[in-house]
Amino acid sequence: MNLHAQPSAVPYYAATGTECALFEAAQNNGLPLLLKGPTGCGKTRFIEHMAARSGRKLYTVACHDDLSAADLIGRYLLRGGETEWVDGPLTRAVREGAICYLDEVVEARKDVTVVLHPLTDNRRTLMIDRTGEELVAPPGFMLVASYNPGYQNVLKRMKPSTRQRFLAITFDFPKPETEIAVVAQESGLDVARVTPLVRLGGHIRNLSGMDLEEGVSTRLLIYAATLIAGGMGVDKALEAAVIEPLSDDEDVQIALRDLVTTVY
Ligand code: ADP
Repeated sequence: MNLHAQPSAVPYYAATGTECALFEAAQNNGLPLLLKGPTGCGKTRFIEHMAARSGRKLYTVACHDDLSAADLIGRYLLRGGETEWVDGPLTRAVREGAICYLDEVVEARKDVTVVLHPLTDNRRTLMIDRTGEELVAPPGFMLVASYNPGYQNVLKRMKPSTRQRFLAITFDFPKPETEIAVVAQESGLDVARVTPLVRLGGHIRNLSGMDLEEGVSTRLLIYAATLIAGGMGVDKALEAAVIEPLSDDEDVQIALRDLVTTVY
């Protein structure tokens, strides 16, 4: 494997643990991989980085509650009076030996699970009922899925029979040194001004007993830093990029503003 085939095209990713080695082991052994973790902590960027590093094409599907097996596999479409079969992203990835990334897979409709099972065990096959084809995935094909354990409810849980087909790794927000480097790199704001932002992020994530569904994401800290780098005042930037996106509750917003004053 040529890890640095196109160095300039490899999206920046700061590793936070042994995730790169695990990805490579999964890829080399044809095993599917599940990324667990909160939103905006770098899961998608990680996959984009690893796909580019290994020179593989990446098909990303943002799953939603209306996403069906046909959306992944493909369908017949009417073109100029003729019906024509059009592959969906999963079929394309299998045919091409590419990586297919199903983001927030638990959101998808139940029939998706039926498709994933034969692909994620040693059969590595994709059945296309409508065309009668049975594709065997080539060695390059890899299935990666992500989900956010924090959002799970009784109706939307990954069934053990599905999750036990994947290697799995938990993602969390990076350590402060790494997060400072990431936010500075992505926003162009200097490290001296990024440091208090990341400290604020840590305080918000440590808040307990507050009505926050989830701590502030690295993505939101990058938004705040981007606004500040563009000349916006810190207070306004934090209001728009951190406080308002995190909560609609006035008391929670007041508590967040108090936290801001302890850092700035
Ligand atoms: P997720 O898929 O977990 O919701 P993303 O991968 O989209 O999150 O991350 C949000 C943004 O945060 C990315 O676009 C990237 O700018 C940044 N980011 C987060 N973690 C990292 C990291 N470890 N290295 C580089 N960029 C990161």
